[in-house]
Amino acid sequence: MTTKKRSTVTKAKPASPSTSDLRALFNGRVIAPDDPRYEQARTIFYGGMDRHPAAIVRVADAGDVSRLVSLAYEVGFELAVRSGGHSNAGYGTTDGGVVLDLSGMKDLQINLEDKTVWAETGLTAGEFTAAVGIHGLATGFGDTGSVGLGGITLGGGVGYLVRKYGLTIDSLLAAEVVTADGQLLHVDDESHPDLFWAIRGGGGNFGVVTRFKFQLHEVDMIFGGMLILPATPDVITGFIAEAEAAPEELSTIANVMTAPPMPFLPADIHGKPIIMAFLVYAGDPADGERVIAPFRALAKPYADMLKPMSYPEIYQPEQEGYHPVAAGRTMFLDHVDRSIAETILDRLNASTGSMAVTQLRVLGGAMARVPADATTFAHRKSRIMANLAALYEKPEEKETHETWVTDFAATLRQDDGGAYVNFLANVDQAQIRAAYPGGTWDRLRPVKAKYDPTNLFRLNQNIPPSMD
Ligand SMILES: Cc1cc2nc3c(=O)[nH]c(=O)nc-3n(C[C@H](O)[C@H](O)[C@H](O)COP(=O)(O)OP(=O)(O)OC[C@H]3O[C@@H](n4cnc5c(N)ncnc54)[C@H](O)[C@@H]3O)c2cc1C
Repeated sequence: MTTKKRSTVTKAKPASPSTSDLRALFNGRVIAPDDPRYEQARTIFYGGMDRHPAAIVRVADAGDVSRLVSLAYEVGFELAVRSGGHSNAGYGTTDGGVVLDLSGMKDLQINLEDKTVWAETGLTAGEFTAAVGIHGLATGFGDTGSVGLGGITLGGGVGYLVRKYGLTIDSLLAAEVVTADGQLLHVDDESHPDLFWAIRGGGGNFGVVTRFKFQLHEVDMIFGGMLILPATPDVITGFIAEAEAAPEELSTIANVMTAPPMPFLPADIHGKPIIMAFLVYAGDPADGERVIAPFRALAKPYADMLKPMSYPEIYQPEQEGYHPVAAGRTMFLDHVDRSIAETILDRLNASTGSMAVTQLRVLGGAMARVPADATTFAHRKSRIMANLAALYEKPEEKETHETWVTDFAATLRQDDGGAYVNFLANVDQAQIRAAYPGGTWDRLRPVKAKYDPTNLFRLNQNIPPSMD
């Protein structure tokens, strides 16, 4: 399928196109610095990234996407592609370039017969989950409803259904992608299979995805929610052991951190080490309650909000205007024993950030059954994902917290040297290579060269085109 309608703007144009040039070209809204909506439109989830795009183009359809990509290709301005704006490295914005903002494209076409859905990439995980949840169906995304379908899917997607149904990309059946030459391609196992392989984990390197086709799964009532336990070495190791031993219906996310002053936590708990855990048993809620019982028994919970619920309820309302600044690292661990648990508690205690967290996600299950080379997410045998972060307020403290997180990651490092691309915050080449180990990297670069030879899509965990 092709909706190519090249703009007539040539290379003689200035690096940042004028607002009137842009407004003439697009069906969607062009938001320039003189627009009262500009401040809000240039804001992304993470704070500390105060960038000023020349314009934000809130594209209305695939034709708009194609025209903006063509324009960026011809004129040469920096193009930031944004779906939900949650990039840990701030790739959804640019200083002086143009933002291709997909947030106006939220169409969703559900096919109840074959349980599939075409979803535009301006949808968030929460919006998608609520819409398909009406039918008792779901595709797994991450732990946060406001994350965009675009970014999370293209990086892999690790969430509450990871052990039961795999990564988000394991439910991806097809996509429509505008490549660097402005063409809209239908990609799946038969059509452009190299590109279909590359976009399942390769991030935004290969083009702008306008919509995805997902397999939906029957996930209606679940047993799950939040459980807050005291974080001692025994409880941390016990939690991980239980999560590893649990049936794959259960996926868990354990945030080891100091207790924030949450109203439902007694005041004497505030500032104490806790595990703020989120658990989802995607199966019969009565079975789920039995499976989750050993977690509840690890220690007397500070808070227990586990209950039968409909799956979309797992995405709780989020705080408006929350834009944290964080120093973060992502890695995989082979095991969490007592000494690792003690190290985690020591390092969290040593952080001078306003909040420090170690997030542990036990993997395995359906995710681990997919061959490592079937998609560009090659970490199928990785056992536990660990995300380390220090949140802070003063920009001048950046170095302190970056040093803390770098040292912390070095202390925890085990044999698994991989990294999950979607959580890479401090993006250096070594970390990108860790996300795409060995043969994956070598296979990705020629695909990049084929579909984006000039590296137009470079505001991402970048895979440079192969020169061979
Ligand atoms: C609070 C929070 C919670 C998170 N939880 C999870 C989690 O549980 N599991 C998990 O796997 N990840 C999680 N993430 C990481 C998240 O998946 C990545 O940050 C993801 O890239 C965000 O996607 P986005 O569309 O919101 O971001 P954006 O900033 O809009 O985009 C991120 C990247 O993807 C590219 N991109 C986005 N849309 C498209 C598109 N349609 N076509 C081409 N390229 C595109 C962008 O160019 C950019 O490089 C979380 C992040 C945050 C901030």
